[in-house]
Amino acid sequence: MKHNFGAGPCILPQEVFKEAAEAVLNFDNTGLSILEVSHRSKEFVAVMDEAMDLVKKALNVPQGYSVAFVQGGASLGFLISAMNMMRDTKKAAYINTGTWSSKAIKECKNAGGTPIEIASSEDKNFNYIPKNVNVPSDCDYFHFTSNNTIFGTQFKEFPKSSIPVVCDMSSDIFSREINVADFDIIYAGAQKNLGPAGATLFIVKDEILGKSSVSIPTYLNLKTHVEKESMFNTPPVYSVYVAMLNLRHLLATGGVPAMAKANQAKADLIYGEIDSNPMFEGTTAKEDRSNMNVTFVLTDETHKEEFDKMWNAAGIVGLKGHRSVGGYRASMYNALPISSVQVLVDVMKEFANKYA
Ligand SMILES: *Cc1c(COP(=O)(O)O)cnc(C)c1O
Repeated sequence: MKHNFGAGPCILPQEVFKEAAEAVLNFDNTGLSILEVSHRSKEFVAVMDEAMDLVKKALNVPQGYSVAFVQGGASLGFLISAMNMMRDTKKAAYINTGTWSSKAIKECKNAGGTPIEIASSEDKNFNYIPKNVNVPSDCDYFHFTSNNTIFGTQFKEFPKSSIPVVCDMSSDIFSREINVADFDIIYAGAQKNLGPAGATLFIVKDEILGKSSVSIPTYLNLKTHVEKESMFNTPPVYSVYVAMLNLRHLLATGGVPAMAKANQAKADLIYGEIDSNPMFEGTTAKEDRSNMNVTFVLTDETHKEEFDKMWNAAGIVGLKGHRSVGGYRASMYNALPISSVQVLVDVMKEFANKYA
């Protein structure tokens, strides 16, 4: 049994893996594999409908919003969201909190827009979240990244905005309660808290559809996917299927509120250890610490090799930090049990006992 702290693709519930494996051999008692059924079959159409419906249930998506599964990852989502939100000014306000935000800013330009960086934490290698940001009213939309997967920061409070709001929630969607009505577009690659790589989730306010001031290729127009109920072309069948199973599991185990509580307990456990253990140091501002991606370094590199050996021996995988931060990153997505976090904390304690 491994303890998977990988940043994405990442751990999903073991029960979901088991059901997903069974469907590869016999999907829904059809005598066919989920990998060979037509996406237009009534069985798969039912899967797609249920997946979209469960997203709405899990996040209390209000009337007037649609859910769509698209491909291309969050990376294409940067461009899709920008193209769909272009209006008269073609100006857009972005908060730059790291690699993913920077990429989103670049795609705004590719959409024909003028991105305005209204705040940035680049001055300190993105180790904090800019506060008291004034979102200008003369832009077409405002974009931010709710959780910064690489740098380990997370917006605890979302900035107030009088203009439409777009959010990349790839790495913390379904991890905490949100008010969908505060957003015009939410998008997220599936491969963190939702399912296997392949699908990208969009939650869209219907009233923004079809209002863009730029010409949008058919596939990149969210109207296409909303109107065709995510069946414009062949969807990533298996990714959507496993996401559906995962959402069923989420709702059967208390939904997002229960998950948020469990995620807070995991975060308290590991940050408590980082703050009390002389061998380790967190890399981000305390008030902005992510509950999903925990970044930390050794206070002294002398015994790095020993530490690496110890966590490897404990069955921990995926702990290496991203190259732009260094050190370690413990990603603790929804499916990671607190018992795995305890294993890591025990290794950290043992390391301090030996070498502090
Ligand atoms: C992983 C991630 C992305 C990139 O997602 P892809 O699906 O690989 O394009 C973008 N934004 C955030 C916040 C992420 O965590």
